[in-house]
Amino acid sequence: MSSERESILSNVWNLPREVSEVAGKDPGTWLQFNTHMVTFYQQTYGELSRFFLALKSCRLIGSHCKKCQQVMVPAATWHCPNCNFAEMEEIELPHRGVLAARAPITIFPSASFIDEAPFCRGYVDVATDAPIASFLPSRLMTTTGLPRPGIFVKGTELKLVFEDQRMGRIRDIFWVPVKELPSHLVDKKPLFASDLNFSSPPMPAIARDPALEGALRKAIEAMRSMAEQIPRSPRAQKDLAGRTHTISVRTAGGELTLIVAGSGLRIEDEPAKSPDFAMATRDPAVFTRWVGDGSLTDAAVEGTLWLPHRAAFAVLPILDRLPRSIRRDVRDRK
Ligand SMILES: [Zn+2]
Repeated sequence: MSSERESILSNVWNLPREVSEVAGKDPGTWLQFNTHMVTFYQQTYGELSRFFLALKSCRLIGSHCKKCQQVMVPAATWHCPNCNFAEMEEIELPHRGVLAARAPITIFPSASFIDEAPFCRGYVDVATDAPIASFLPSRLMTTTGLPRPGIFVKGTELKLVFEDQRMGRIRDIFWVPVKELPSHLVDKKPLFASDLNFSSPPMPAIARDPALEGALRKAIEAMRSMAEQIPRSPRAQKDLAGRTHTISVRTAGGELTLIVAGSGLRIEDEPAKSPDFAMATRDPAVFTRWVGDGSLTDAAVEGTLWLPHRAAFAVLPILDRLPRSIRRDVRDRK
């Protein structure tokens, strides 16, 4: 695709060329310059290379010991530590596996992965027929929106997927639940990320429940009354400044639209024709709780609020700030 070479350090890690002044030092003001200290180095994968070279060419391999029958994946060594370093042989592993344990979902990652949350990693049992085998630590993805509790549980059958652009690193691969694949892709080998649709996942079916219509009206009322207070809350206006979002919401009690524009919030009691994205929840009270003391982020993390992608998730902390900002400005006015 792109022939442009990616640099190791992105601009995120850079600083502007800048001089500042630090007041109150002895004697008087000190000048302060932004500067840098960087070390680059090359690292080889040594005997691990064979495994990663295989990934690059869309093969998953393990090292197999003929004596004790153990299979190592990733192939961390080619000499069996159990059998006096007997030579191990390369075996081709299937592009199917089983999740060995429920996978944690990372919501608040370290700085290097901040744009990728929430994400899921787990241990995949690939050499299921071997008497002893290691589990492969891997990324797990779903084609049904953001990772939610209940998708990646122990025993989930998984299919190996290769990134279209591979460099020979563990991030060249990830796994998706087999049951999410259309039947013509289940046995495709290799399966590529571009064979799947991650950008516009289908919204989960939410059956209309007339018993929840009252809860929806209550939620809309609560949100409108919060929105009415935004013009008097500098903090809330600051939260929304420069943002425009049209967010469709489907609940079992009916639909609504949240419109963020002009540092304000508007609630329509009908679905938007062309929203930026849509959210879904069975229970409209998720939004009443948001206005009260709850949080939409928590609802998404718990899995009660469905979101299509990370960009949608990134909007939630902004919305979550609103009730707090309004409360703080009300308190300050007193
Ligand atoms: Zn052995």
